[in-house]
Amino acid sequence: MRYIFKNLVLFIILFSTTTQIWAQDLTTEKLNNYRDISEKIVRSALIENKGYRLLEELCKIGHRLSGTENSLKAINWAKLTMDKMNFDNVWLQKCMVPHWERGNIEKAIITNSKKYNGKSLSIAALGGSIGTTKSGVTGEIIEVQNFEELKKIGEKAKGKIIFFNRSFDMGTSNTFAAYAGGVNQRGQGAIEAAKVGGIAVIVRSMTSKYDNVPHTGIMYYIDSLTKIPAVSIGLKDADLLSEAIKNEPDLKIRLDLSCENLPEAETYNVICDLKGSEYPNEIIVLGGHFDCWDKGVGAHDDGAGCIQALETLELFKRLGIKPKRTIRCVFFANEESGSRGGLKYGVYTDTSKEIHLAAIEADRGALTPRGFYTNANIQMVAKMQDWLPALQNSGIEWIRPGGTGSDISPIKKCKALFGYAPDIQRYFDFHHSENDVFAEIHPREFELGSAAMAILAYLLSEEGL
Ligand SMILES: [Zn+2]
Repeated sequence: MRYIFKNLVLFIILFSTTTQIWAQDLTTEKLNNYRDISEKIVRSALIENKGYRLLEELCKIGHRLSGTENSLKAINWAKLTMDKMNFDNVWLQKCMVPHWERGNIEKAIITNSKKYNGKSLSIAALGGSIGTTKSGVTGEIIEVQNFEELKKIGEKAKGKIIFFNRSFDMGTSNTFAAYAGGVNQRGQGAIEAAKVGGIAVIVRSMTSKYDNVPHTGIMYYIDSLTKIPAVSIGLKDADLLSEAIKNEPDLKIRLDLSCENLPEAETYNVICDLKGSEYPNEIIVLGGHFDCWDKGVGAHDDGAGCIQALETLELFKRLGIKPKRTIRCVFFANEESGSRGGLKYGVYTDTSKEIHLAAIEADRGALTPRGFYTNANIQMVAKMQDWLPALQNSGIEWIRPGGTGSDISPIKKCKALFGYAPDIQRYFDFHHSENDVFAEIHPREFELGSAAMAILAYLLSEEGL
């Protein structure tokens, strides 16, 4: 009797655990259905190229630098485009943003050199930099590779233009790590230079492409220190300058910049919804940042991410797919110089009655899809591994823990955040420079990205988390 009882208990335990496992598994039938839908999404994206054409239209408007008149033109275009697509809800979310303009004077000339006298260098003011007076800033150059070296030079740096020339690490395949390894020169360089009495800063561009195009990006000041102008320099001229000052240490440069910081300006997040058929109050956000630097037109960074998010909703409409949960596209304002749009949306979600299930951000360029990074917990990540066969058709090979995106991070109540991760070898060739133009977008790479986001959004919508 005891024997039978013991076995009965064991049987019940075993049976209940296996049914639990079965219940969690994605059935073959369901998976096949998802694969069919995924196939339709990929084919339609690749054949129709609708998002690619929309991105072309957007890029024709020009740059979308935060606070500028041109950025408002683009926001207007975005709102009208969403209206024309007949989504369930199209709305604007107001926020105030820093307003910096480059102006039209941007010159760096070598003034006393036997070999290079009068030579103009390829530079770009860094975002947020003050300009110079009409008489410019002229000084000798001190080259350093990092802040420690600058500190050691100390007094000798006083009255000099500090040239930060540490290069992007070309020896790693992780270009984001290479970027992170050098970008403090751009962000903090003017602060560190001001501490030792420097009068301006020239920073080697953070790029993987050996050309002479300067790459801009945000830089910072602190109020207790003198604010000094800061520019980036193209790699060829960075190398030329480095060589020139070895031969002529008293070589001087004159900088003339008309950039300025203006009062904060009003701008908007642009948002549209495709209402869920079963759980309309549960939201899956897809988005990118709509602002960009004024060199180039932000085709990859991040016009592409915005339009891929928008194309997801449009693909569902086009193909008659009715997701169970609401799919929302957000064009976030001002990521490049303050992330005010992302913060604004985050505050909105704090008190909104909506439930934010997931958010997917695309802000790594429109190159060939590879995977999705996520902050989802281990159980969710394990569950999502079963979805990969439906995602692989778009080029997605993995879903793994990792950094997601700065605009969606303020959505505190979200169950899981995702960062779309395309191939990263070429991204920093164009990032924040005049190389970031529509001609650098490949329609197939771009459209596969739209498809990848659409498939993940659909799976999240149908399966939940
Ligand atoms: Zn970006």
